Amino acid sequence: MTRHEERRFGVAMVVSGPSGTGKTTACRQLLQRESGLRFSVSCTTRPSREGEVDGRDYWFLDEARFRAKLQGSSFLEHAEVHGCRYGTLRREVEEPVAAGRDVLLDIDVEGARQVRRNTENTSLAGLVVYVFFAPPSLREVERRLRGRGTEGETVLARRLGNARAELAVWRNYDYLVVNQDLTRAVDDLQAILRASRCLVATCREEPWQGD
Ligand code: 5GP
Repeated sequence: MTRHEERRFGVAMVVSGPSGTGKTTACRQLLQRESGLRFSVSCTTRPSREGEVDGRDYWFLDEARFRAKLQGSSFLEHAEVHGCRYGTLRREVEEPVAAGRDVLLDIDVEGARQVRRNTENTSLAGLVVYVFFAPPSLREVERRLRGRGTEGETVLARRLGNARAELAVWRNYDYLVVNQDLTRAVDDLQAILRASRCLVATCREEPWQGD
């Protein structure tokens, strides 16, 4: 690591968009490629799925413990998604970014909107980049949601309706990644991360000063 890299702030990369776009898969692949990137582990009240690990994929909390964190202002943002509660812990983002580490947030569009609002005029201002992760078509969203096979028709119809509404906000983001091809989409995320690491806002001081 160069002296400049040691002295910079980190960036928080928010990857957001509807469910059923392949966003979570793309985020996982990006994390594998970029060993210096940390995943912001969210809290959720939804039950864990097979293979998910508490503290790695999510912090799985019951309603009471989620509410206690909410009341203690532990969350940078929180939202209800498909009937369950999700929240980003401040400590998953603020501390690493201040210490120069880059963080990835995989959150819904409401969460992204709140992060933008809640980081204005804070130490995170200028250090958060917003990426909208989009499907190549609505038919593809439906195919992916059906492919999960965990939901009935009513739930599926509601999720598709939600996806349409969530797609409408794409212009509020800095970057757009269309997942036509997963490898290319991950390439795009990686390129955005690399560019973000060069943001002037990440420099604490003039990198060429000192010995
Ligand atoms: P899943 O339950 O399938 O893992 O995630 C459902 C949705 O919740 C996804 O769109 C995911 O990005 C979003 N999500 C995950 N964690 C958070 C969070 O901390 N905050 C918000 N607002 N959304 C989240």
